[in-house]
Amino acid sequence: KNGRIGGIESRIHVFVRLRPMARKEQEAGSRCCVKIVNKKDLYLTEFANENDYLRLKRLRGRHFSFDASFPDSTNQHEVYSTTTAELVEAVLQGQNGSVFCYGATGAGKTYTMLGTLENPGVMVLAIKDLFTNIRQRSFDGNHAVHLSYLEVYNETVRDLLSPGRPLVLREDKQGIVAAGITQYRAYSADEVMTLLQRGNQNRTTEPTRANETSSRSHAILQVVVEYRVKDASMNIINRVGKLSLIDLAGSERAIATDQRTLRSLEGANINRSLLALSSCINALVEGKKHIPYRNSKLTQLLKDSLGGACNTVMIANISPSNLSFGETQNTLHWAYRAKEI
Ligand code: ADP
Ligand code: MG
Repeated sequence: KNGRIGGIESRIHVFVRLRPMARKEQEAGSRCCVKIVNKKDLYLTEFANENDYLRLKRLRGRHFSFDASFPDSTNQHEVYSTTTAELVEAVLQGQNGSVFCYGATGAGKTYTMLGTLENPGVMVLAIKDLFTNIRQRSFDGNHAVHLSYLEVYNETVRDLLSPGRPLVLREDKQGIVAAGITQYRAYSADEVMTLLQRGNQNRTTEPTRANETSSRSHAILQVVVEYRVKDASMNIINRVGKLSLIDLAGSERAIATDQRTLRSLEGANINRSLLALSSCINALVEGKKHIPYRNSKLTQLLKDSLGGACNTVMIANISPSNLSFGETQNTLHWAYRAKEI
């Protein structure tokens, strides 16, 4: 359809998802500054005097276009089927791919990736779809699905399915792997939501606010599908496809707090991972020979899932509130650049 499955087209597919206005934002007198004009285009409005809503008036606007722009009424299934369903197909053909959620803290990344019990997100829907496809194609039980769920926090890799000591990355014939990571063999999609929710609870929390996942934490779900097929001459061949689904750390700049000095190392490292990701994406699409994967743990882990014949999808999450105008503008600029290159 669009050449993506053949791995011919290496461009990044970029989507934007607007979340509904939160009650807190409403109570703070927010105005909506994002308008989704049609399925692809959105309009961002900057109001004069952001702090005085009585005197708000439209200052200027900017138009953006993406592969799709999802209004706040879009449900999880629509987001999944537009952004990720094709990648699940590709994985069944032995290809690799990755889906990232990018955006400021509170913009809806975790909701999009993990979701809730009632409204499961991309991670869960992808695995569901994967098992449906496997059953339909009757691979005769010759397939195996393994899940790993890990966190990169402060340039340290941890196993979210079996928390413990930090994991060391090493290179083997399969690429870069986290030594000793749990590879959970999944037999159906039913068990996966609880597994992932429990994993998500193992993410590093803010020292100042218990139970709140650190905005500096990246969570990566890797789904590896392995199966045997017979080729035309009846030789058995092994195929492996890998899908990486990533809930990135918050893209906002570190907020100045009392703990600023303490946090500066963490801040620098988060920026390092996000920066390294941007550099890799730039280098890949510009066709550079050297891709700087080594610059961060995140990009090392995604080395075999970014670029080349891999399918890459970005979902930029944004809030509708004019109080988040700055973050939204940054997110949209970043996403727009990723689309253009
Ligand atoms: P992030 O992971 O980017 O920090 P969250 O996914 O935790 O942000 O979202 C912040 C809040 O907004 C959560 O309470 C979440 O349930 C809610 N939310 C985000 N996106 C949506 C959406 N599309 N529909 C309904 N609620 C949403
Ligand atoms: Mg989150």
